[in-house]
Amino acid sequence: SRAKLFDEKTEVKTTFKDVAGLEGAKEEIQEIVEFLKTPEKYTVLGGKIPKGALLVGPPGTGKTLLAKAVAGEAKVPFFSLSGSDFVEMFVGVGASRVRDLFKQAKDKAPSIIFIDEIDAVGRARGKNNMSGGNDERENTLNQLLTEMDGFGTNTHVIVIAATNRADVLDKALMRAGRFDRQIYVDLPDIRERKEIFEVHLAPLKKVEGLDTEFLAKQTPGFSGADIANVCNEAALIAARNNKTAVDKQDFLDAVDRIVGGLEKKNKIVT
Ligand code: ATP
Repeated sequence: SRAKLFDEKTEVKTTFKDVAGLEGAKEEIQEIVEFLKTPEKYTVLGGKIPKGALLVGPPGTGKTLLAKAVAGEAKVPFFSLSGSDFVEMFVGVGASRVRDLFKQAKDKAPSIIFIDEIDAVGRARGKNNMSGGNDERENTLNQLLTEMDGFGTNTHVIVIAATNRADVLDKALMRAGRFDRQIYVDLPDIRERKEIFEVHLAPLKKVEGLDTEFLAKQTPGFSGADIANVCNEAALIAARNNKTAVDKQDFLDAVDRIVGGLEKKNKIVT
């Protein structure tokens, strides 16, 4: 397909306020916000600003959200693409997309490049040739490494990548001067789930005094994306029943529905 090369957002509205929980990850990534805001402050003693950070964690835990929030906090443009877009691409297309992406990001620096699902391109080279080889994936990965090595430390483009499979990544990606910082983004604990509910309940018309702690207790193992889904589903269930406000029962019904969906998904996988 001739889909657009990548997404570019010059004015990102997302900030750390939109990211509930993840205190440790936010604290670590705050450093990148500072680098992007005042690079001069950090290079004055000869230090080099990092080029990349890798966000590692299960699906739906807020990795994309966090990367976007870094751009929003630092007020820099956000360029993003997904590793899975490169699968089954014609020869040369992946590498040229990577080249274009870095060129645009450099033109707009300071800026952020976000690569979701980097494992789709960043799998260890020469190990995934069961399907008759995937040279284009390797070309794309090589181009990515070349670009990261090629830009000087005063380019002020920081590449943030996300994966839930850090174990399969080519070690070359983690070398110094590439994705040498790794930040873990875990499933939320009960206190974090409460906070995520608070974020996603805010825009809903709901009954007074909804107990978010109770909702957090009902949702062990849920990711932030699952919780966002519960809140949306609850509002739809309430509306279907012609209610004027979402109530506790709607949330419980929504949780049941999401749990059902998760079980089905797991059955297919295993
Ligand atoms: P994937 O690995 O599947 O790409 P991800 O880790 O990048 O997932 P996001 O795309 O950032 O996850 O999360 C999806 C949605 O779930 C977000 O847009 C947001 O609505 C909600 N969400 C996830 N985590 C959080 C969080 N910590 N706080 C608030 N909302 C969250």
